[in-house]
Amino acid sequence: MARYTGATCRLCRREGLKLFLKGDRCYTDKCAFSRRGYAPGQHGQGRKKISNYGLQLREKQKAKRIYGVLESQFRTYYEKADKMRGITGENLLRLLELRLDNAVYRLGYGNSRKEARQLVTHGHFLVNGHKVDIPSYILSVNDVITVCEKSKATEKFKTFAENPKTLPNWLTGNPENFEGKVVSEPARTDIDVPVNETLIVELYSK
Ligand code: SF4
Repeated sequence: MARYTGATCRLCRREGLKLFLKGDRCYTDKCAFSRRGYAPGQHGQGRKKISNYGLQLREKQKAKRIYGVLESQFRTYYEKADKMRGITGENLLRLLELRLDNAVYRLGYGNSRKEARQLVTHGHFLVNGHKVDIPSYILSVNDVITVCEKSKATEKFKTFAENPKTLPNWLTGNPENFEGKVVSEPARTDIDVPVNETLIVELYSK
């Protein structure tokens, strides 16, 4: 599966805000955006007038980068969201939130979505008792995510379990049992990503 392999911090600088793509480093003074909070490249510090299209494009890029999704897959999510009942933009964010790698990250396994994605591809998780190593797997309500037996004993997973995160309303977790459950579909208010999904819908509806 294709993925972005360029400089990660460059993405935050391009979007003009911290996207927290590197886990712990993002909270230290080593953060590239804190040190150079302007766009990368030769003209990064120049003043720019951004068009309406530019605004829409930036929102789409931001969402893709936060969730670690490439263009073709992102468009597929949009098309799926558009066919669903309800508000397309919210459906889109809901689909992204329900990805297995995102849920694993929300449960506290991995300091970034990138790390969570790697944990999934390495086969550390079960969904409803079956091994799933596909980061883009879309979870449903009542799905139970567990860490596989072998991984529970590792120092890495013990550390994750000892440092539980605050969970969004749509997830419940039981760190002692290395378990999490999707209890509802994520509402827009549960999704704390700084993205204006309406602009993404406007971009794709042209
Ligand atoms: Fe973004 Fe984190 Fe890099 Fe800072 S350290 S620029 S928040 S990825």
